[in-house]
Order: sequence, then structure tokens, then C-alpha cells
Amino acid sequence: MTPDLMKAGARIRAEHSGASYGRVVTPGVVDTAHGAILYLDDITVSFDGFKALNALSLSIDAGELRCIIGPNGAGKTTMMDVITGKTRPDAGRAFFGSTIDLLRLRENDIAAIGIGRKFQKPTVFEHLSVFENLELALKTDHGVRASMFFRLGGAQLDRIGEVLVLIHLKDSAQRSAGLLSHGQKQWLEIGMLLMQDPRLLLLDEPVAGMTDEETERTAELFLSLEGSHSLVVVEHDMKFIHALTHGNPAKKVTVLHEGSVLAEGSLKDVQANDKVVEVYLGR
Ligand code: ADP
Ligand code: MG
Repeated sequence: MTPDLMKAGARIRAEHSGASYGRVVTPGVVDTAHGAILYLDDITVSFDGFKALNALSLSIDAGELRCIIGPNGAGKTTMMDVITGKTRPDAGRAFFGSTIDLLRLRENDIAAIGIGRKFQKPTVFEHLSVFENLELALKTDHGVRASMFFRLGGAQLDRIGEVLVLIHLKDSAQRSAGLLSHGQKQWLEIGMLLMQDPRLLLLDEPVAGMTDEETERTAELFLSLEGSHSLVVVEHDMKFIHALTHGNPAKKVTVLHEGSVLAEGSLKDVQANDKVVEVYLGR
């Protein structure tokens, strides 16, 4: 376990000592013995009486790649805000594995226990090289003093090398991030997330603005992460959803509408669902 995770673990344990945990939270050790890595139960979020999430329940298996679709305003981004601790629900339960109660943790702690989130807009450091961006992602949470004396170890260099290959940027390692295409910047940001070794990745409209070729490569990247990671992918691009599910009827797609699950099943099944066609696909 890395020192920052140990620190986060100590902090979480200190904050919740005396709280009603059945077990101590150990970051990096997510209990997925029952299969689920993420479990949302009856989550409701209201903004001035309007229910952005309305008794939303959802379960994601360890190693699963779940696609989530649905019209604008369905609550997809709000759901990610709840999982990452940015928004507190009015009601419901949210668990990471079977023992970690996400609603008791702060945003930083949730990131530290292995939930990585990619926002729509890439936020890479444009004046730094691709390599330096990945290096920086390793340093976050070490604090300024620790960063000043931070030296890359062999294992960390190897990891940067692996991630550069995964995100198709090995040949651009020394380029300024500001010179990358929009799609490459998105990959770099995914690479920065991967440097922190998340168990669960939340990706909100990751291929928006990408070329067709970049979109295809992004699908390949996500499929290569499936299994070793769990992924929740929110996207409008149906070609992309097709590529991620590649006709596999065992792969579930979830359709959100008005803050709850409208349909769930294989892509073929949800595409044939009359309610889904009416509120989303048929427009
Ligand atoms: P999606 O990502 O599916 O398009 P969102 O989760 O962004 O949907 O939004 C769901 C609904 O909640 C929308 O009607 C949106 O206007 C509303 N909403 C989201 N965040 C806020 C907020 N901070 N304050 C008020 N309303 C919000
Ligand atoms: Mg959204």
C-alpha cells in the first residue's frame, strides 16, 4: 500500500472510530466477495423540490463495464456526483464493495479508496509534457513537502510506461500536452486517473468531441481495462455503446430517465423497449 493510501486510511479510521462500522475501512482492500463493487439503493437527490434522482437503485459487479444512457437531465451526472461525494443525497444508501459506506466519506477520501472520475472537459496541464502529467498524477495527495522530495522509483517508471502504451501516447511522451488533439488530451486524463490505481472508474461522456477513429480507440482502451477495473460509462454516442457491448447479450446497459432506472438489460433488449424508444432513442 502506498503511503498516501495509508495516511488516508488512518484518517478515515480516525474519523469514523466509534461510528457504526462493522469493519474497519482499509483503502485498497474493497470487499467484493459478494460480487458488487458499487451498490446504490433508493438514492434520492432533490434540488429545490425537484428530484434529480428519484429512488435510484443500481448495482455494478467487480470487473464489469456498465454503459449508462438516457436523455439530458435524466440524472446521470448527479449519480456520479453522489458516488464521488460531491452531492449528498436526501435519502438512500451507497456502498463501495460490501463494507464501505460512501455516504460517510468525503470527496478526497472517496478518491483515495479507489474511485476515479473523469469529467467531460479534459483538465491536463498544457505546459507540461505528457510524461510529466502522468508523473504529477502520481504525486497528488503527497502534499507539497513530499512532492518536493519525490523521486520516481523503478516500479513507478514502469507503470508510466505501461499507461503510455494503454492510452496510445507512447510516441508523444515528451510532447507538451497543449499540443495534443482533443481526443489525446482525453486519453491523457484517463491515463492520469489510471496512475492512481483506481478500482472503479466513472466516465462522463468520454468521447464527446472525438473523431470516429479516436472514439474507436477509446472503446478499445475501455475494453482492455474491463476485468481488472470496473467502469461506469455515461455516453450518448450509440456507436460507441455498440463497440463497448459488441453484441454481447450478457453485457448490461442501464437507461436512466427522470432520476431512476427506466430499463436495464442487453443493448438489444433496451433498444427494443417501447418506453426507452419513446423517451430517448426514438427522438
Ligand atoms: P444528465 O447528466 O443526465 O444530463 P444531470 O444529473 O446533470 O442530468 O441533471 C439532472 C437534473 O438535475 C437536471 O434537470 C438538472 O437541471 C438538475 N440539476 C443538476 N444539478 C443541479 C444543481 N446543482 N442545482 C439544481 N438543479 C440541478
Ligand atoms: Mg450529464
